Amino acid sequence: MEETMEIGLSHPYYDVVVIGGGAAGLMAAGTAARTGKKVLLLEKMEKPARKVRITGKGRCNLTNARSVEEFAENVRTNGEWLKVAMSEFTNRATMRFFERMGVKLVTERGERVFPESGKAADIANALEFYCRDYEVDIQCHSRVTEILVSDGKVYGVKYMNKRGFIRKIEVANVIIATGGVSYPATGSTGDGYTFADRVGHTVESVRPSLTPLVSNHPQIEYIKNVWLKNINARLFVAGEMVREEFGEMSFSDRGLEGAVILRLSRDAVDALLDEKSVKIELDLKPALTEDILRERIKREVAEMRPEDFFAELVRRLVPKPLVVPICKELDVHSRLYISKVSDKEFERLIKVLKGWSFPISDYAPFEYAVVTAGGVSCSEVNEYTMESLKVKGMYFAGEVLDVDANTGGYNLQIAFSTGHLAGLLKK
Ligand SMILES: Cc1cc2nc3c(=O)[nH]c(=O)nc-3n(C[C@H](O)[C@H](O)[C@H](O)COP(=O)(O)OP(=O)(O)OC[C@H]3O[C@@H](n4cnc5c(N)ncnc54)[C@H](O)[C@@H]3O)c2cc1C
Repeated sequence: MEETMEIGLSHPYYDVVVIGGGAAGLMAAGTAARTGKKVLLLEKMEKPARKVRITGKGRCNLTNARSVEEFAENVRTNGEWLKVAMSEFTNRATMRFFERMGVKLVTERGERVFPESGKAADIANALEFYCRDYEVDIQCHSRVTEILVSDGKVYGVKYMNKRGFIRKIEVANVIIATGGVSYPATGSTGDGYTFADRVGHTVESVRPSLTPLVSNHPQIEYIKNVWLKNINARLFVAGEMVREEFGEMSFSDRGLEGAVILRLSRDAVDALLDEKSVKIELDLKPALTEDILRERIKREVAEMRPEDFFAELVRRLVPKPLVVPICKELDVHSRLYISKVSDKEFERLIKVLKGWSFPISDYAPFEYAVVTAGGVSCSEVNEYTMESLKVKGMYFAGEVLDVDANTGGYNLQIAFSTGHLAGLLKK
């Protein structure tokens, strides 16, 4: 059983307490310490940066080297508001920062930046080293339970330490960098929303983003563990196409996922929450028009023997695991002789290859979502300082804010930029 004995308010020693040792919190803590502040970082898990260690499939896509304009296009919420933070600590600044910390970087397709080692742990360790180098006091197993506020000003925090004691610390500044609620096993369980809500901040409704989508298409059970490259996916909401993405996707036990689906998921989730109909159409042959595809099929058929099966033709056009599902979708027997396939059936094949339609019935929950959309309303946070407009000395950084972006390194850059700005503790 947890003890909850309270220990009295300790004398002021720290200039700032940073709550949460993720990407934003470590950047904020290190920056505050580098500029001469006494910093305490409280992290509830056994070690900091658990989420950073699993980013980019363990490789950490830490930022994106695209231009400011292209970068802004990939920020989905409050992009304008973020501009100050992003210009004070740009993607170039992030790259310089890690290179100075001894982490060699590589830029890959789509201008995505990774550590050359391919190890996300190098990024997590560099952030922690930055803090330790400037003597940030990092205390793990320390969950902040309350931020003490009086007369519109922060005067302390309460936290539960490793031994289950509640400690109070007197401090005039806190930086809330508690993240969102996605992948809660990493420690991000939405505590920052509660802290913000208690002092009257608006918390915009939180929902999963960059999350797999669930389809109740009858063929879905036959399409498992299939990766598709170079496909075009179109998102339809209430019958209208709202977004289109090109790249990779996969079918898994969770449903449709992979980069293009994750990028479409934000709009899909919002539409599902609005109870609108949602479907995704997959163009498996985006480089070919229907006419060129028709010619290609004619050529393939001409090369085949009359007794070859329809499945052989489909196999020549798509990856093997899709052959049976496509035959089922067309309701054409896979072992039908090619000489017996009707013109109508060839036309239906063209339609499916150019626009295979998957109704979307649901989305995967926060446990599988790369980021959380929604959060502390940016309209109540000073964009030049990250300080609350409601409570003096209360700052926000990272995913706890109502900011989110596409895949590609943008979300970590947001954490670094807002963390850096908050860490400057500007008034
Ligand atoms: C699987 C996965 C892969 C991803 N890959 C990428 C990628 O390659 N590139 C990219 O840009 N983005 C990626 N992201 C998104 C990115 O990781 C997050 O947007 C970013 O880490 C958010 O940083 P943060 O510091 O705001 O929050 P978090 O990283 O969530 O950190 C919050 C910290 O606060 C601590 N905490 C919470 N409450 C308390 C409390 N009460 N007291 C003390 N401590 C507390 C938590 O334990 C946690 O350590 C990925 C996310 C996931 C889940």
